[in-house]
Amino acid sequence: MFGHGRRKTRTLPSASEPNGWYETLSTPPPAARPVVGSIACDWAIVGAGACGLAAARRLAELRHQDTVALIDASRIGHGASGRNAGFMLNHNTHGEIKDLEIERRNAALCAAGVDYLRRLVRENQIECQWSDWGRLYVAADDAGGTHLSELAGNYRRLDRTCSWVEPDRLRDMLGTAFYTRAIHAAGSALVQPAALMVGLGRTLPANVRVYEESPVLEISSGTPLRLTCARGEVLARNLILANSVFAEEMGVARWRVVPIATYASLTRPLRLEERSRLGSESEFGLLPVDPGGSTVRLTRDHRLLLRNSFSYGRAKRIEPGALDRAERRHRKALRRRWPDLGDVPFVSTWGGLLGFTRNDGTVFGRVADGIHAVISSDAGPVARGTAAGMLLAEQVCGVRSTLLDIMVSLPGAGLLPPDPVLRMVVNRRLRLIESECSE
Ligand SMILES: Cc1cc2nc3c(=O)[nH]c(=O)nc-3n(C[C@H](O)[C@H](O)[C@H](O)COP(=O)(O)OP(=O)(O)OC[C@H]3O[C@@H](n4cnc5c(N)ncnc54)[C@H](O)[C@@H]3O)c2cc1C
Repeated sequence: MFGHGRRKTRTLPSASEPNGWYETLSTPPPAARPVVGSIACDWAIVGAGACGLAAARRLAELRHQDTVALIDASRIGHGASGRNAGFMLNHNTHGEIKDLEIERRNAALCAAGVDYLRRLVRENQIECQWSDWGRLYVAADDAGGTHLSELAGNYRRLDRTCSWVEPDRLRDMLGTAFYTRAIHAAGSALVQPAALMVGLGRTLPANVRVYEESPVLEISSGTPLRLTCARGEVLARNLILANSVFAEEMGVARWRVVPIATYASLTRPLRLEERSRLGSESEFGLLPVDPGGSTVRLTRDHRLLLRNSFSYGRAKRIEPGALDRAERRHRKALRRRWPDLGDVPFVSTWGGLLGFTRNDGTVFGRVADGIHAVISSDAGPVARGTAAGMLLAEQVCGVRSTLLDIMVSLPGAGLLPPDPVLRMVVNRRLRLIESECSE
């Protein structure tokens, strides 16, 4: 997959794209330490999102004597892991379960990821608004109600419990009659994702050094491996690529993970009289059963978050105009749910990239001598990515576990057709999702 020689990255993450969670952190992070000069280490990890942070922590715990350099193009908390909707999902399912056994294994990984994060937040007292509120899958019409019944069936097949929330109770809880029915599922958490990632970055073991604002521009194979940044280089005996959809820039998982952009907006904190228009819950997290619907959160610091809209993300940039379109859709979604709150200003609208595979597959393990990769994709990616990062560190250190057996038993991400076919197929699917969505 990786090959010999030098790999130049053509596309890099943008450090200047907005991220409402990062912009509203209660304590802004101190200045970044970039890669300057020549740095030697035992392990280099490229990408400090959920996967990279978990891999760095576990590796450093297992190899006390080794030095780990965790390198990110931007700041910790600024990438996708710090710009998502903040659902740490112990399990997530939509539509019909294709393969029950695979679904069970994925659920085990997601649950392990949430448990690991919960423990780290508690032990390190990370202030990230962690809440075990769970999640509500919500329906807004009859079609949504049918999806909900399927979802409840999926839960039964997976031996998981969930409870129905009927319309009156739902209206009391949320202060809107927009939703017709819901299912509450426990076990997942809600967080301020940028605060979680920043907190995880700050509490890494002492043998991890974090380098930020240091895009890796080129990787040269050899002993040691050489990672070139703008103002310096990292010489590493081993390398873990945890840079999500950007890994294909380095020749890993090419045409196996579809980069998709999705968008979110965050309001200013609601005033007391505005909060009284919402229902009895002091916070909530709503996931649409309709894939084209809106994810909605009321945060612990009284902000509303809306997430909807997808676009094909091959350029790995948020395209001009996309944020204006997304903001309009978020505003419309807010007005339809809470007309009285429809004009509460957004403090930020942003987009971010996530990866999908065609078969719920994984990118996990060795890709060349001394080089390993982990990409988080599909359902519950932060939780499953955290588990995958942690397990990759265990695999490279020779630690065996049932969870690692589960991870390696999952199918690898299937090959996709290249562009322009992929672009056409994805755009057609996204248009269909939007046209079928009544929300
Ligand atoms: C709006 C939105 C809402 C979402 N909601 C949820 C949700 O509620 N729950 C959930 O589980 N998932 C959600 N997701 C998806 C989830 O955030 C991502 O799938 C997940 O965070 C990916 O984690 P990661 O560690 O694989 O990658 P990332 O978090 O993307 O980390 C990869 C890192 O690699 C760095 N990098 C890339 N190239 C280079 C390079 N050349 N040199 C150095 N560094 C590099 C990047 O800067 C980045 O920080 C959402 C995503 C978005 C955009």
